[in-house]
Amino acid sequence: MSKQTHSFQAEVKQLLHLVTHSLYSNKEIFLRELVSNASDACDKLRFEALNDASLYEDQPNLDVRILIDKAARTLTIRDNGIGMSAQEAIDHLGTIAKSGTKEFMGRLSGDQARDAQLIGQFGVGFYSGFIVADRITVESRRAGLKAEDGVRWSSEGTGDFEVESITKPARGTDVILHLREGEDEFLTAWKLRGIVGKYSDHISLPILMRKEEWDQDKGEYVSTDEWETINQAAALWTRPKADITEEQYHEFYKQISFDSEPPLAYTHNRVEGRTEYTQLLYIPAKAPYDLWNRDKRGGLKLYVKRVFIMDDAEALLPVYLRFVKGVVDSADLPLNVSREILQESRDVKAIREGCTKRVLSMLEDVADNRRDDYLRFWREFGPVLKEGIGEDFANRERLAKLFRFASTQADEGVSLADYVSRMKEGQEAIYVITADSLAAAKNSPQLEIFKKKGIEVLLLTDRVDEWMLSHLHEFEGKPIQSVAKGAADLGKLQDESEKKFAEEAAASCKPLVEKLKTLLADKARDVRVSTRLVDSAACLVADEGEMSGHLARLLKQAGQAAPASKPVLEINPQNRLVMRLSQEVDEATTSDLAHILFDQALLAEGGQLDDPAAYVQRVNRLLIGKLD
Ligand code: ADP
Repeated sequence: MSKQTHSFQAEVKQLLHLVTHSLYSNKEIFLRELVSNASDACDKLRFEALNDASLYEDQPNLDVRILIDKAARTLTIRDNGIGMSAQEAIDHLGTIAKSGTKEFMGRLSGDQARDAQLIGQFGVGFYSGFIVADRITVESRRAGLKAEDGVRWSSEGTGDFEVESITKPARGTDVILHLREGEDEFLTAWKLRGIVGKYSDHISLPILMRKEEWDQDKGEYVSTDEWETINQAAALWTRPKADITEEQYHEFYKQISFDSEPPLAYTHNRVEGRTEYTQLLYIPAKAPYDLWNRDKRGGLKLYVKRVFIMDDAEALLPVYLRFVKGVVDSADLPLNVSREILQESRDVKAIREGCTKRVLSMLEDVADNRRDDYLRFWREFGPVLKEGIGEDFANRERLAKLFRFASTQADEGVSLADYVSRMKEGQEAIYVITADSLAAAKNSPQLEIFKKKGIEVLLLTDRVDEWMLSHLHEFEGKPIQSVAKGAADLGKLQDESEKKFAEEAAASCKPLVEKLKTLLADKARDVRVSTRLVDSAACLVADEGEMSGHLARLLKQAGQAAPASKPVLEINPQNRLVMRLSQEVDEATTSDLAHILFDQALLAEGGQLDDPAAYVQRVNRLLIGKLD
């Protein structure tokens, strides 16, 4: 192929512009990215060679080499990994194939500091070379292709790039950076060693540089022909814990997670027993921008006997722990294991259970000893963790203990254990209310009696809460009860005089209740006198076992059919509007008031009226009567 010119995909141009403009303050990361690509290329070769050993040609020892050419002012990162065909070079180095890229680009704000952080999360890869280079030449040959089938790719990192065929006997890829003016520090061996030590020490392959010697005549260090390894060349998780610093653990985390912040917690263990594996698990401090992207796979990197097998092996953790990052290196699984096999393997099941337990212990430790950090974690990942209650039966108790809620006593951070410890004498249930927002929950009429009696109620406002409650029925033997469901049975919390009063009120309101039942037959399943209202005129409740209005609304929003179930209207006999209603003799006014009572109860819990215009007309009829 003679020389061809291609244009970068629009997104690449945009990314290139950003990379060169906003990442300059942390420019040395380019070496980390290029070494990481080189190491990935070697992993890929090793993986493909499992089925075809001839791909190794006569070079089975994989490594990455860094070469300095002071005269030409170039820095080369060389690997003998899988390499690229001409078409692969055009595809991989001219477009961004990664899923989520479009979304990512859309989130960029133009604010350099913010964007730089986002890019850090995203991982800039190859293009980061242009931070320090004004031209990059890539020379590559794919393993298995002939020497004449090599490719040279070259670009100044602006609008386009060139490709042409070359002869390249050595398998793999050379990335040659033509350094920009003023970037001569990257031609200094000790500087490069320092960067490799900082970012790439854990890379499992040897990273080599030529040894240098002092040249008396030139008065400077010059390269010799001898190569030496400049990193530890042992995958981080294979090294003894005692030899690894916290900084190294953090650096490894940043590398595998694209997170620019250190993790919240990590754990590193060798597990022996029926199945043998090493786990290195991290809990991020911050949710990634695409946590809620349904197509995104969660999961860990899977290695088998130190050979990289796959990213995002979701079978290694339950879905509700999809935010956990890390590595599992198994000693037992076959090297040619596939995703399908993983789903069924007994070893994987044991690994999943082991990893789940470890993650929960880590979270318990943070919750017990670092309260503020735990709250931060909870704000980021709480809703995801709640999914676990329906998914992970074995760990239900432990999960429930990790949950934190808002309540009528605190806006966040209330655990079920805190709640139980504050329960009143005679209180038998844990009371909760679900609503669309904290404000709506706090002001629910259903809470009035609980507020009056000083009984704490948990305020649940996450979308998953209704679903969670359908799986979480009790905690430490105490039933969890929605204050918007069933008759408000306060049990021992109500004293004799209150009970008596309620019975009398029910009796005296009987005629009104019957009237309302008839008038509101289309809207309410039943009407009864409330024991839970103090100030408000009325509220809606669902019968025990029925779907609450809040859940029905959520389902509707999600486009799912909610069974049409009518609520129960509860009225407060001590409220003035209700008293007035019971004395009303005019039939039309009684009907207006009855409907207004119902509609307002629905509005107060965040519901929508079926016929808002009718509501407005009724209110206006009453207002006019008042104003005339
Ligand atoms: P990422 O590595 O995150 O996929 P990059 O922009 O760094 O993104 O690289 C894009 C693609 O180019 C890689 O996925 C890989 O297919 C190819 N590539 C980059 N560097 C190398 C290399 N040294 N050897 C082989 N392929 C490479």
